[in-house]
Amino acid sequence: MPIRAVLFDVGDTLWHADGAPPPVEFRRRAAERAAAFLAANAVHAPDPGALARACWDAMEHAMRSARAGDLVEPDYPAAAQDAAARLGVHLSREAAAAFLDAIYVSGAEGGKLAYPDARPTLETLRQRGFRLAIVTNRAFGGERFRADLRDAGLDIGWDAIAVSVEVGYLKPHPRLFFAALEALQIHPAEAVMVGNSLAEDIAGAQRLGMRAAWKRSRPDADGVIPDFTFDRVGELLNWSLLAEAARVH
Ligand SMILES: [Mg+2]
Repeated sequence: MPIRAVLFDVGDTLWHADGAPPPVEFRRRAAERAAAFLAANAVHAPDPGALARACWDAMEHAMRSARAGDLVEPDYPAAAQDAAARLGVHLSREAAAAFLDAIYVSGAEGGKLAYPDARPTLETLRQRGFRLAIVTNRAFGGERFRADLRDAGLDIGWDAIAVSVEVGYLKPHPRLFFAALEALQIHPAEAVMVGNSLAEDIAGAQRLGMRAAWKRSRPDADGVIPDFTFDRVGELLNWSLLAEAARVH
């Protein structure tokens, strides 16, 4: 089957955070925002920074467990709510969700920068007639993620965006890939996946019959053989499957 679409991972594939502030600075900003959020919502907490840290750690712990387990996207607000309760702070589930959103330092502020050849490569692929989609594991979706894409200059009018927290499953679960494939109305064999994780991007896509290109990173799985390996995003344009214009039909 001819290739008609390219699905992309985002983190360390299209953008990176090499210039991100150090963790201590993230924590300082999160604590500041936590204090502002709690004051605005008339919630008393003796140490807003400790509350922010506990809620964030609970969210990350839930994500790590899911990634090592059933790949069902966890209920992050509920995890944060429990963590707050352990510190004696009562938050409704809605308030816990808003609190996580408030303390999340993202986008350009979080040091996210697109690789310099990412956007030109996406534009060339589009000129060649390929449809372009995102398949990403992230705990924050919605407008927040779209705004981060805009800030990074990666708002190219994606044909489909599948975010784990919106779909309910984490890569390499097939459901997240199928969310993008179904939105594009194509068969897995008509798409390729591009990502930096052997375990999540490459193996996940290959299991569904997609071919997959690996942006070389520290290997996170044994025995996974990518169909193409590259270091700079622009090298994708030389992959035989993408080197010629997509056959439109
Ligand atoms: Mg990645």
